[in-house]
Amino acid sequence: MTALKIGVLALQGDFDAHCKRLEELGAEVVLVKKPEQLDAIDGLVIPGGESGTFLKLLGEAGFEKLKQFVRAKPTFGTCAGAILLANEVSNPTQAGLGAIDIGIRRNAYGRQVDSSIREGQLLLDKLGDSGVEMVFIRAPKIERVGPEVEVLATEGEDPVMVRQGRTMAATFHPELSDDTRIHQAFLDLIGNSHTPHGK
Ligand code: GLN
Repeated sequence: MTALKIGVLALQGDFDAHCKRLEELGAEVVLVKKPEQLDAIDGLVIPGGESGTFLKLLGEAGFEKLKQFVRAKPTFGTCAGAILLANEVSNPTQAGLGAIDIGIRRNAYGRQVDSSIREGQLLLDKLGDSGVEMVFIRAPKIERVGPEVEVLATEGEDPVMVRQGRTMAATFHPELSDDTRIHQAFLDLIGNSHTPHGK
């Protein structure tokens, strides 16, 4: 089977760690800096960073192109990427791509808890052991989960990783932990919905 071609949005933020992890897992990785590159990939990771800055750098045309992409192809957003994928963003209100029916609140843990490493739970059987390290950095909180949305991981009472169709979103940074199961779950999601180019 040909390697899946995964794009990592590389406008800003921590795209490098995602690239390394995906390559480790056997994917072919493309750094996406221009909207037209979206046409040549099987799935996309939107990394952490600053979601407002992503919106500025994307511009209106980039945002529209990305919106079409995330409706058609598997996408995994982490932290700022999860904020971008949501359909409802608060603190402050800003545009979302609407790929996943969640309400998400930016910087929800306040300044005093800028970042933390906590133990959360993976809820999918196929992800194996349920305990998993989660790195949170100026993390958002998922405050509303729509009826079509499946919760894939929790931390305490909070949903911290969710999926709707082919869209996954996590409020933490799995690319910063050694555990590869979460990126593998995303690659599996792509593999399951993948039709090779030209067929
Ligand atoms: N606080 C950032 C935002 O609101 C997200 C932080 C991150 O991606 N680590 O966009």
